[in-house]
Amino acid sequence: MGTVVIKFGGSSLSTTDKIKNAARMIIAEKENGKNVVAVVSAMGKTTDQLLTLAGEITARPAKREMDMLLTTGEQVSISLLSMALTEMGAEAVSLTGWQAGIITEKVHNNARIVDVKADHIEKILQEGKIIVAAGFQGVTEDGEITTLGRGGSDTTAVALAAALKAERCSICTDVTGVFTSDPRYVPKARKLASISYDEMLELANLGAGVLHPRAVEFAKNHSVSLEVRSSSESEKGTVIEEEASMEKNLIVRGVAFEDNITRMTVFGLKDEITGLPSVFSTLAANQIDVDIIIQSQTDNETNLSFSIKDKDRQEAVEVLEKEKEAIGFDHIECETGLSKVSIVGSGMVSNPGVAAKMFAVLADNGIQSKMVSTSEIKVSVLVDAEQMKPAAQHLHDAFELGALEETASK
Ligand code: ADP
Ligand code: ASP
Ligand code: MG
Repeated sequence: MGTVVIKFGGSSLSTTDKIKNAARMIIAEKENGKNVVAVVSAMGKTTDQLLTLAGEITARPAKREMDMLLTTGEQVSISLLSMALTEMGAEAVSLTGWQAGIITEKVHNNARIVDVKADHIEKILQEGKIIVAAGFQGVTEDGEITTLGRGGSDTTAVALAAALKAERCSICTDVTGVFTSDPRYVPKARKLASISYDEMLELANLGAGVLHPRAVEFAKNHSVSLEVRSSSESEKGTVIEEEASMEKNLIVRGVAFEDNITRMTVFGLKDEITGLPSVFSTLAANQIDVDIIIQSQTDNETNLSFSIKDKDRQEAVEVLEKEKEAIGFDHIECETGLSKVSIVGSGMVSNPGVAAKMFAVLADNGIQSKMVSTSEIKVSVLVDAEQMKPAAQHLHDAFELGALEETASK
């Protein structure tokens, strides 16, 4: 009997009626002859509310205690969904992340899954029961509870699908699939029938919150058949696969954006050879991700600018100031209130004019780009936060992402 993993996000579980709807979708899969593992997020805005509660107690909560707090959200969902399934006559068992065998590295708040011990789940599936597993949470080998980062339930679903060799992993959410841009901000965004793992990974990494980046990474590495679809409509969703054969010749596939970005500049690095690695190893040792990097030279000194997330700013300044002597720099300045807007598409690799067109579109619309980074399949720029939405819309229009007719089959 084939296994399917079906994941419901918070907005799809925000009321008990929605939980009952999820239960009906799960039962339909079961009646279709499948073993079913449902993975769930916390109800509605629960995780945000828990973060607010912690913030009312302390500005710097211990990361371990944050994980202890946040994992309670998913535990509410698994029990209620399991009750709904039972009430509808199905046999269901709820499992926390640790009961489901999700083993992570020893990192709090943003842990990676290192193993899935699936024996327990497999035994329950063999008994014909539906499993309702908590997303976003795991346990270290020495028994500490961890979380996988915001949006991490997607990754739990894909990891379970990989471990169980599931025939499909469906991510059910409040949109009908992956769009050319976030439909909430870009009304002309169009649903894609399929997209490649690599393009989806870039979009997710660059802010397209519809999928957790590590879920896409995991799906690619384990060839998991992944789809994003609606939790309330029966419409066909988007398939994420090795090579999206439709629209192959489309140079730009999507526009992604992310706000709350800081540009940090370390002025007066005394010794470029030793200073550069010291700055970045200090940040890395504190799990602070650096994105775009620019190095500039003035007389005898080197200045180093890089972008980080706003939430990491305070910690980044603190850890660098602590190492000021060892690293050897003069001072740090931060510019906040920035956003990153990116265009993504595997066709870019052989089309050198794409970046030029992007800058022309931004310039024509009076949008200044403050930092730029490129890879084979993306170009990203930092802009002032209030220009994020117009920049995304202008780029979406200029690359004609809304205009194409979608082909229904390959
Ligand atoms: P869930 O609670 O189901 O995990 P999320 O809020 O994490 O849902 O993800 C769904 C949201 O992702 C959508 O409501 C949409 O606003 C946003 N989104 C961002 N980029 C895209 C995109 N390219 N395609 C579709 N949705 C996107
Ligand atoms: N509840 C967590 C969050 O809000 C995990 C998830 O939804 O995937 O980030
Ligand atoms: Mg999500």
